[in-house]
Amino acid sequence: MSAAPLLRQVFGFDGFRPGQEEIVDAVASGRDVLAIMPTGGGKSLCYQLPALMRDGLTVVVSPLIALMRDQVRALTEAGVAAAALTSGNSEDENSEVLRALSARELRLLYIAPERLASGATLPLLRRAGVQAIAVDEAHCVSQWGHDFRPDYLRVGELRRALSVPLAAFTATADAETRDEIVARLFGDAAPQVFLRGFDRPNIHLAFQPKDGPRRQILDFATARRGQSGIVYCGTRAKTETLAQALNETGLAAVAYHGGMEPDNRRAVETRFQREDGLIVTATVAFGMGIDKPDIRWVAHADLPKSIEAYYQEIGRGGRDGAPAETLTLYGPDDIRLRRSQVDEGLAPVERKAADHTRLNALLGLAESATCRRVALLGYFGESAEACGNCDICDAPPATFDGTQAAQKVLSAILRTGETYGAGHIIDLLIGNPTERISARGHDRLPTFGVGKDLSRSEWQAVVRQMLGRDLIRPDPERHGGLAITAAAHAVLRGEETVTLRRDLVSRARPAVVVRTQVDEEDAPLLSALKARRRALAEAARVPAYVIFPDRTLIE
Ligand code: ADP
Ligand code: MG
Ligand code: ZN
Repeated sequence: MSAAPLLRQVFGFDGFRPGQEEIVDAVASGRDVLAIMPTGGGKSLCYQLPALMRDGLTVVVSPLIALMRDQVRALTEAGVAAAALTSGNSEDENSEVLRALSARELRLLYIAPERLASGATLPLLRRAGVQAIAVDEAHCVSQWGHDFRPDYLRVGELRRALSVPLAAFTATADAETRDEIVARLFGDAAPQVFLRGFDRPNIHLAFQPKDGPRRQILDFATARRGQSGIVYCGTRAKTETLAQALNETGLAAVAYHGGMEPDNRRAVETRFQREDGLIVTATVAFGMGIDKPDIRWVAHADLPKSIEAYYQEIGRGGRDGAPAETLTLYGPDDIRLRRSQVDEGLAPVERKAADHTRLNALLGLAESATCRRVALLGYFGESAEACGNCDICDAPPATFDGTQAAQKVLSAILRTGETYGAGHIIDLLIGNPTERISARGHDRLPTFGVGKDLSRSEWQAVVRQMLGRDLIRPDPERHGGLAITAAAHAVLRGEETVTLRRDLVSRARPAVVVRTQVDEEDAPLLSALKARRRALAEAARVPAYVIFPDRTLIE
């Protein structure tokens, strides 16, 4: 079976994480591989998935019994025949593993390195028809490293004895350790080495709330006339309408989606590959197999499905290392849509919970108050400094201390038993006596009406940012009712502060706009207007603007 359906069906992932696809390809095609990836980068998948793509058994050498057990449990739950051979096994477990091995039922066998010291292991593995070896935490073979395991030295012998391909994985990237791993595990046969952190420093990251989304995309594309770009759209219909709108603006654009005839799809792929300055408006069906190095920009007309999907899609830009730009649009409707896709899917509850968390991570990135690259790489387990190549670094947004607001939300959630969605919680905070509020007696709670200082849409912005910071989560076991996370307790106790973006909260307010015909040079009138604007803003508690005929704006 090929990689993509297995990725979804067995592991429940939307896409590869950066670097995984290349490694999976190499391992699946039987190469010797050394892959260095940051912690949390998803190394396990890079040997588990190829193990399912080929026939027979893959042996995984791994140093930690607890870790092996976790992985075996997860694989077994996903329907994969996997087992572990460790000193932690009971007699019964052991004989079951041995039986399954000789019946050649297993696809993955985890084995502790100590096992390799036993004379019985090699003959056993010979009989079991091993097709490949994977070595996790391969730096344990390095005598200079802090994790040295003498038994890891036997992995090299195992490889020679079985003469099957070997793939080694580690997060330790320094050159010395790397050389030592290669020498001890592969001997003279140099493996294909994959060494990549997640950072793609040449890709500029930017998000914008939807605010006339078609205009936003057209402006972005027009400013990049003559450059090849992709606009990812949430629906097939939108790929068509956007392509047409771009064409009407005089830009060359074609649509691409899974509903098109294969011939037409191929024609678009070839044209994009060959032509300069073509824009493809596409669903996520466009991507796998697109290998164009000079894609200069990638826009998302709708919020992607997950942070992994986001990374993979923007990662198609700037493969040549030259600057590439991105723009991701998002709005409350996208978030609702993505949430309901998770909730209404057929996945088991735990997977839904994980999918919500992944969606929240993307939301957190979209509404980040600090460098987006730091947030993105942090999600993948890599640390970074403020990058200077994202919209937040370009123009840091104003923030405010939202700790009190966050505490109000958290206590409203707690007082109502972590069973209600955002709408009800906000009704409670702003003191809106809905039928449900009165039916449940929530109008008698001390939190009823404590949030009158903010409007409904402002509270929505606060709640969204709290989801993004993983302070609250929708709980699929309670029909999406909001529950608070472990991280939220520190906020409730006042030990952690919550910094919120002011622009996202205040843009939620409708604005008062005063258009005027007066001469901008007229100083006394101008100051009168400014005073009027301030008074309006204070009275209505919304932003107010004065706009002159040439569209100069006074805040
Ligand atoms: P590593 O061994 O590199 O530290 P793991 O293999 O333990 O990383 O994976 C870290 C986390 O990332 C796990 O929770 C795993 O489920 C998740 N993960 C791995 N690959 C993907 C993917 N393609 N999409 C989403 N999540 C992934
Ligand atoms: Mg690991
Ligand atoms: Zn940055």
